[in-house]
Amino acid sequence: MPVPATLATSAIATTIANLATIISTVQHCPAQIGSFVDKGKVLLLSLLLSPSLLLAQDFDAIQITTIPVRDNIYVLQGSGGNIGVSVGDEGTLIIDDQFGPLTDKISAAIAELTELPVTFVVNSHFHYDHTDGNTNFGHAGAYIVAQDNSRQRMESTQVLANGHVQEAYAAPGLPKITFFDSMRFYFNGQTVDLVNTGAGHTDGDAQVYFREANVIHAGDMFVRYGLPFIDVNNGGTLDGMIDAVANLASLINNDTIIIPGHGQLSSRADLLEFRNMLVAIRGNLVRAKVQGLSEVEMLSTEPAADYAANNDGTREWLVRHYAEYTQ
Ligand SMILES: [Zn+2]
Repeated sequence: MPVPATLATSAIATTIANLATIISTVQHCPAQIGSFVDKGKVLLLSLLLSPSLLLAQDFDAIQITTIPVRDNIYVLQGSGGNIGVSVGDEGTLIIDDQFGPLTDKISAAIAELTELPVTFVVNSHFHYDHTDGNTNFGHAGAYIVAQDNSRQRMESTQVLANGHVQEAYAAPGLPKITFFDSMRFYFNGQTVDLVNTGAGHTDGDAQVYFREANVIHAGDMFVRYGLPFIDVNNGGTLDGMIDAVANLASLINNDTIIIPGHGQLSSRADLLEFRNMLVAIRGNLVRAKVQGLSEVEMLSTEPAADYAANNDGTREWLVRHYAEYTQ
């Protein structure tokens, strides 16, 4: 999407500078952008966040950071969703691949850990900030694996709940292997379970549990940036996320290390705290609905006041999910 011709160059530069801060803060999570800016900037942001501009402006500056997790499992952080990496004698399995322009840097970071190529790419879900590198890894010979609904979403253009348009992927970027409820890998000495704990963030999420290492990649069913983006245009719901997170918590224990979709390594206690937040806000929304409050009246009760700043992003989130409940 081109930048409007009427936009002054200096204004673009200033905005891009501001954007760099915002983007590095939220790591491209589609939904959270709005929370950081006032409404007047949202349209501009959505224009400037079009992939072509991101390619030009931001990716050169991105560094990939490698964090050991446990037992030859690592997380790579750059821009976009956290990348889980399993290395060993049998090859390399990664979970998510961020943005295409970062593939060389991601590959270089993986090469510091192993000489073996990426055999499998698991997509935690279809969103672009987790899958934009698929085409590059697919061309390089990796098998891409995902929950079947995610593959189907990637086959055609999708409009996310925040308005972002994600174009269809060509064949090399599409998952070649899909599952419905769960599937299992035996790889690098690990029993690796891919589990769909229910429609929550989208209707095609996969959580990836390395059983022996007791490490799980939660995808965007669990994030650390505040109110989670829930893609109601693509099968996500607040109720679904609450249930899916409970299912996720039931799979793991207090020693499990969780790699969230975005943000720092976490524990089961952190996951349950996240769920408690969702349950509390849901309760406030349902209570407002039962009282027959309009959207404006609901917002005036500040249903998320204990958890998030009362800004435009929070209000948009509340309105989006208030619509899930009927009186
Ligand atoms: Zn997502």
